[in-house]
Amino acid sequence: MELVKQNIEFIAEDYNKMVDIINLLGRKCYNSEVPDSREEKEEFIKRLIKMNHTSVIEHRIISVIFTTSRSVANELVRHRLGNYSQASTRYINYKKHGVKFILPEFSTLSPGHYSLQDSGYILNDKFYPWNTLRFEDAAYLSHLWDQAEFYRNNIIDGLKPEEAKEFLPLCTRTEIGTTFNIRQWRHVIQQRTSKQAYKPFRIMITELKERFKANYPCFFEDI
Ligand SMILES: Cc1cc2nc3c(=O)[nH]c(=O)nc-3n(C[C@H](O)[C@H](O)[C@H](O)COP(=O)(O)OP(=O)(O)OC[C@H]3O[C@@H](n4cnc5c(N)ncnc54)[C@H](O)[C@@H]3O)c2cc1C
Repeated sequence: MELVKQNIEFIAEDYNKMVDIINLLGRKCYNSEVPDSREEKEEFIKRLIKMNHTSVIEHRIISVIFTTSRSVANELVRHRLGNYSQASTRYINYKKHGVKFILPEFSTLSPGHYSLQDSGYILNDKFYPWNTLRFEDAAYLSHLWDQAEFYRNNIIDGLKPEEAKEFLPLCTRTEIGTTFNIRQWRHVIQQRTSKQAYKPFRIMITELKERFKANYPCFFEDI
């Protein structure tokens, strides 16, 4: 059984090309010429956003691969204006590929390969007695171990992955390729970075926001 952290794989788009295309299309609204200077093109996009003329930035999309828990992915796919390609628990046999869970932010456990024994646990080939863990972490670890073993044993007993998947918990790791246009990314970032949003989702999307700001400044600098 492996415990892993959330991760974002960023599929970079050419920022200059995005700025050029939004200028080319957006300036049709005003019959204005596309300027040569990068700054003027960026200023045009910032003005569109400021006046809420944001349908223009729907002309460009960005794709991202999230590695996260099933529970965060369940919230992500509630956003309707996008497209998703998610790892299938019906087709993937986790007995073969290894059962992986996302470490929750409340746990102080380290990521890595775990194996449990009566007197302690093995993390990445090194043995640790149980008393090296907080009670909550030990309880969490042993619960997940039981879940993973239950899944594995059901596959050994002849269940198909699409049947055994019923026993996987919501913290099971998933990968989900996600594509939104820029307007929708702004909406999702604004909604999911709020204090009311689910914390693991908020942590992941806050990191994404910073990467978007660095890579696509004129589209995200105001949020
Ligand atoms: C803090 C928080 C708590 C939540 N709690 C729950 C909960 O308890 N139970 C639950 O079921 N869900 C819950 N949700 C999910 C929430 O209700 C939305 O389904 C989800 O966040 C998707 O966002 P969205 O509605 O803005 O739509 P998106 O699908 O992201 O669409 C983007 C925008 O397009 C427009 N739009 C899209 N579709 C339509 C439409 N059919 N009609 C009109 N306008 C449309 C809207 O302006 C919308 O904001 C929660 C979300 C948050 C952030």
